[in-house]
Amino acid sequence: MKNVAVVGGGAGGLIFANTLAKEMSEDIQSGKMKIRIFDGSIYHEFQPGYLAVAFRGRDPESLRRYLSGLVLPGVELVPENCSKVDIDNRFVVTEKTGKKFEFDEVVIATGSKPDYSQIPGLSQANHDFHSSARASADAYKRLQKVRWGKVVTGIAGVPYKCPPSPNESAFMLDEFFVRRKLRNEVKVTFLTPYLRSYSNETVNSIIEPIYKERNIEIITSFNLESVDPEKELLVSMEGDTLPYDTLFLVPPHTGAAIFKGEEYADSDGWIKTDKYDLHVTDHDYAFAIGDATNLPISKAGVEAHLEAIVVANNIVSEMNGSSDRYEFTGRLQCSMETGFHQATFVVGTYDKPIERIQPSFYNYMQKKLMERIYWASLKGGYEWLFRWHFGEDYYRKTTRQRPPAQSPKVQNI
Ligand SMILES: Cc1cc2nc3c(=O)[nH]c(=O)nc-3n(C[C@H](O)[C@H](O)[C@H](O)COP(=O)(O)OP(=O)(O)OC[C@H]3O[C@@H](n4cnc5c(N)ncnc54)[C@H](O)[C@@H]3O)c2cc1C
Repeated sequence: MKNVAVVGGGAGGLIFANTLAKEMSEDIQSGKMKIRIFDGSIYHEFQPGYLAVAFRGRDPESLRRYLSGLVLPGVELVPENCSKVDIDNRFVVTEKTGKKFEFDEVVIATGSKPDYSQIPGLSQANHDFHSSARASADAYKRLQKVRWGKVVTGIAGVPYKCPPSPNESAFMLDEFFVRRKLRNEVKVTFLTPYLRSYSNETVNSIIEPIYKERNIEIITSFNLESVDPEKELLVSMEGDTLPYDTLFLVPPHTGAAIFKGEEYADSDGWIKTDKYDLHVTDHDYAFAIGDATNLPISKAGVEAHLEAIVVANNIVSEMNGSSDRYEFTGRLQCSMETGFHQATFVVGTYDKPIERIQPSFYNYMQKKLMERIYWASLKGGYEWLFRWHFGEDYYRKTTRQRPPAQSPKVQNI
């Protein structure tokens, strides 16, 4: 019997578990494999939709599905978060009931979360369009009241998920005020710690002219240290200040708190992960996928998806006695809406530089299509379409050997 534990039932965890369950249905039925997802959330949310809730007044409920309804037969959902993942001794402990579950293989897919503690004053001042459907709905309530003044959006700190999303917020705010005929009364400012409007120069060269054309101010190299909500002032680490009237910033993110202090994670809780086969450093039976990893790539759903496919396929091969092994190519594909029904994409891999893709209505429709197939894709649906779309970047076959498993440590008694 192979016991597979999946810690976190978001985009990556669901695609991994459901794909594995589809491929191994006979083994699951005959008791040779058990797959469990651990996640205390009642709902899963379509996170890219947060922007439309905050800046277009979309219904927040439309972004939600019950997590239990996204798990295929053959996968057991344990409706609790884990408070401990002991990789060396191969068990997890659940948070509420303190139950211990042993595993043979574990996949960590706990995502990333905003960390307001890094910037004093930010949580009181900010209208968060980035962390939940509910928070975005509150941000929209505030936005509707804005008639004039200085609206500042952008990046409060790094890392954060979905790199283009702060730029999208600037373009969507511009569109909102244009449509309300308030654009002349409202100054829109985009704030970033990077040297340009987008960290990558190719993408920057495409979007910077749009900022100019729409009269959106860009303030670069602003490393936000604190916010003074009383004085409505942003203060940078270098001592610069910037006044605002309304704030829509993306807070810096960290990994799940339970990993801080674990040897297999860094000090911010990001899991030390192999960039190709996604094993957790020194453990060939533990993997990390999606936002939870320390990989130097975008934290985005496409990465979580393709990483889930690589790990699932490697476990299937192993179970079937096949020597086929697969690697993640580093493929990223983040859509960036530029307003008024136009979008571009940030596309690249570990080996291929970011492509130059001009904003178009066609790209915007592709982004819309992604939402149409999102819920089915979490259940392993439309994989033929993704395989066709990503082509050679979907995954790479490899002969690379994984490192030998680390033996359990001697426990202090
Ligand atoms: C505004 C916005 C726009 C975005 N747009 C795009 C886009 O256009 N394209 C794109 O590809 N990506 C986009 N993303 C990013 C994408 O949504 C995430 O990168 C993706 O969901 C990451 O998947 P994940 O499985 O790593 O984490 P998540 O989907 O966040 O899931 C993590 C899960 O882990 C669970 N969890 C946390 N701690 C524990 C614990 N201790 N025990 C058990 N479970 C736990 C959580 O409850 C959650 O269900 C966007 C994100 C935002 C916020």
